[in-house]
Amino acid sequence: MGDPEMLTAIGKLAALGITNLIITGGEPLLRRELIPLIRSAGELGMTRLILTNGDLLDERIIGEFIACGLEGLSISVNSMHDARKIERCAALLQRSGRVRVTVTKVISRENFRDIGAIYRWAVSRGLGIIIQPAYLPEHSALFKTLSPHHLSRSELQELTPILGSWGNRQRVAAYVGFIFGLYKLGPDLKPAHCGMGTSALVLDSDGSVYPCFHRRDLPAGNILSDPPESIRNRLESMRKSLQAAPCYGEHCVSLFIGYPESGDKRSETSPEG
Ligand code: SF4
Repeated sequence: MGDPEMLTAIGKLAALGITNLIITGGEPLLRRELIPLIRSAGELGMTRLILTNGDLLDERIIGEFIACGLEGLSISVNSMHDARKIERCAALLQRSGRVRVTVTKVISRENFRDIGAIYRWAVSRGLGIIIQPAYLPEHSALFKTLSPHHLSRSELQELTPILGSWGNRQRVAAYVGFIFGLYKLGPDLKPAHCGMGTSALVLDSDGSVYPCFHRRDLPAGNILSDPPESIRNRLESMRKSLQAAPCYGEHCVSLFIGYPESGDKRSETSPEG
């Protein structure tokens, strides 16, 4: 979509009843029209969160975020070098008292030893932090180099106290249970409910709508060419088949979709359960 189409799409999302907008990429800060887009979504009553790698953050864009009332910014931090690079911008946003700042740290085989330092840094700065495992399919050329599946058991156990502390502090213990299950550090768990496809949808850069990043087999229409009622009806018919998370797998854990703390169940295949 070009910039005018994106503004049209925002209006149509509002007509669908969307109240929370997450703008991701690629890298959203590369879009010239990002600020008008955020402003327009705010005028339509949406809360707005931007996910960025942080490379293009500077005082000018921070000032614009604050001025247009952005509610949340989540910045990828993969090393302490990254952390130091975004520190000043994160502090400016926090000082505004308006924009909530979260950092996201992806666990990979290469960087797992940095997680403790980044976690402590985020906590000491009063920043929210999301820790999520990198998902690499087995056929990926980087599977062996990056997948946490290639960490030894003792290396994985180094992560246990950090993830446990994070889970309790940020009240995401259920999600941490899924991570532990994935790497055989705990029982094999499965969420009882998935927000994707039930209370969330994905809008692609060509206007296509899907219930989930991973369910491209379930097209719900195109936001630019289909009436909102038709998209709503298709999503509703998919919701019934997706709400119990039948397609849950490792790829879903990497999404950090905020599984609810309660109502999670043990998988029937769990050796412990
Ligand atoms: S369970 Fe996984 S694949 Fe299925 S809708 Fe949820 S996030 Fe998507």
